Amino acid sequence: MICDSHCHLKHGNKEMTEYTGREIVEAMDGAGIDKTVVFAICVTSAQATEFALRACREFPDRLIPYAYAIPHISESALSHVERAVRDFGFRGIKVHGGETRLTPYVIDPVFELAARLDVPCLVDFAGNVDYTSRIAETFPKTTIIVAHMGRYLCTDRGLLNRFIEIAEKYENVILDTSGVVIPGKVSEAVHRIGSDRMAWGIDGPYPAPDLASFAKEEIDRIRILPISEKDKDNLFWGTISRLLKLE
Ligand SMILES: [Zn+2]
Repeated sequence: MICDSHCHLKHGNKEMTEYTGREIVEAMDGAGIDKTVVFAICVTSAQATEFALRACREFPDRLIPYAYAIPHISESALSHVERAVRDFGFRGIKVHGGETRLTPYVIDPVFELAARLDVPCLVDFAGNVDYTSRIAETFPKTTIIVAHMGRYLCTDRGLLNRFIEIAEKYENVILDTSGVVIPGKVSEAVHRIGSDRMAWGIDGPYPAPDLASFAKEEIDRIRILPISEKDKDNLFWGTISRLLKLE
């Protein structure tokens, strides 16, 4: 079984590209992906819930919704996140350090809420090591999935190493392999923290060469790693299915 643990109904790129549930499921079918975690960013928390509800109601057996926690002035993000999880069965919370500050007075209530609701937080820390360790240490009961092993498309081995060290130190930290462009760091992390603390995702959809081919290439990048079949199973399915209680 394969679950993509990181997929956007709306991206944070310059064009803020949107994809429908149908487009995502067609790409999954083309690539051989069973389930996909979906969420929208670059919208309010209320709008993100609508995006995910629309997609997941059409494909309830294939798509798994995350709520989006983006503090904003007009209304409480927390109430929308809580409603998405409690009333609509959303399985996790997305936080993006490029869109919100990760300072305690802004973001800490989200991590408290995640622990109370017993759902993981997928967080893009945008390379910020200090915020990552502060949050991992402050909220030991919150599962923090560190997107891109710390920073999207990171070519700085030393920086990736610091995020692996954080995962070694704090057991509530999971590393997300999407957007990691140094494959050796993925296998190194598997050996240092264990594949049951890591989850695969593609951070898609991505249109080149086409949605399904991009997803397939991301699967193949894991398949050729010098790690065991059990480790690959954990990356593709075991870890995220345990965290999201898929079985
Ligand atoms: Zn992403």
